[in-house]
Amino acid sequence: MSPLTPYERVMMVINGEKPDRVPVVPQITYTTAQLTGVGLVEALHSPEKTATALLTGQRELGYDAIYAGWESSFNLLAEAMGCVMRFPEDSVPQVAEHVVKTPGDLDHIEIPDPQKSGRLPIHMEMLTLLKEAVEDQIPLFAYTPGPFTLAGQLGGISPLMMATIQDPEYVHAITDITLQASMKYAIANIEAGADVIITADPTASGSLISPTTFKNFAAPRITKIVSAVTKAGAIASLHICGKTTPILEQMATSGVKVVELDHLVNLTEAKQRIGEQVILMGNLDPTELLLSGTPKQVEATAKACIEDVGADGRYILSSGCEIPPQAPLDNIRAMVTAAQKYGQFT
Ligand SMILES: [Zn+2]
Repeated sequence: MSPLTPYERVMMVINGEKPDRVPVVPQITYTTAQLTGVGLVEALHSPEKTATALLTGQRELGYDAIYAGWESSFNLLAEAMGCVMRFPEDSVPQVAEHVVKTPGDLDHIEIPDPQKSGRLPIHMEMLTLLKEAVEDQIPLFAYTPGPFTLAGQLGGISPLMMATIQDPEYVHAITDITLQASMKYAIANIEAGADVIITADPTASGSLISPTTFKNFAAPRITKIVSAVTKAGAIASLHICGKTTPILEQMATSGVKVVELDHLVNLTEAKQRIGEQVILMGNLDPTELLLSGTPKQVEATAKACIEDVGADGRYILSSGCEIPPQAPLDNIRAMVTAAQKYGQFT
């Protein structure tokens, strides 16, 4: 029997079958710049340079999927919807000026066109280049922003948090707009070749909002994205950073196939609570372990994750969140080694 391709391995797990071993999919994007020597900011404007770095990362480190992104989708969409960005030399862009300063500003917000608005076309072209290069051997994961998070980018996180209490109608109005933007972007990503669409909703984290606020504002709109993504023929995943233990069931009932867990969540507990419903993915600490730890520590922690929740095949070894740009590549290699050594199914 010929060995499975990374695409086959990942899709078998997502479809509830046991492949040859636990797949390993680190959340690695701009860290791959280390391999090609391209500058983080320089690459932002070049679909060819980002695609080359992402492809080189997969080829040289040997993980099972490519995260087809370079900076966060919520930043890209925030800029395309009118936010002014600043571009630090050694980091990814950040919102410098919000486009929504008063509720009245919502009247002027337009839903961006992924083929035309801001720097979205650069992302779309990168995705097209990746799709051509991977020839269906390697799955492509792409992000779309959670509507709650994108609303925080457009108008500021603190005003959004205040408004959940003082002006819920405003929160519904702005997140209805960001839902449309996120959905349109997700569909464009699927059309350009993304196999898995991850709704990334860091501002909806249990570290920032209560389970009730999540239920009232974030969850219903995540569910709408998930259903649009599924209808368009792609796999839906959900990424929420930080402590999501209180909302695990809400995450799992959104209709997603995969739930990505950050390092603050206990994998074994998550497995007990939602492991029957969804495939779990996670959750090595991106900073303390993957940036600052040693390959030996990474291998040991990854081994423990596989032993804790990987035996039934419904698990993808990953980082808990995006891997920092300066993380040593030997730590990523150690993750891959752990999946190959300890993740085999007999
Ligand atoms: Zn995260």
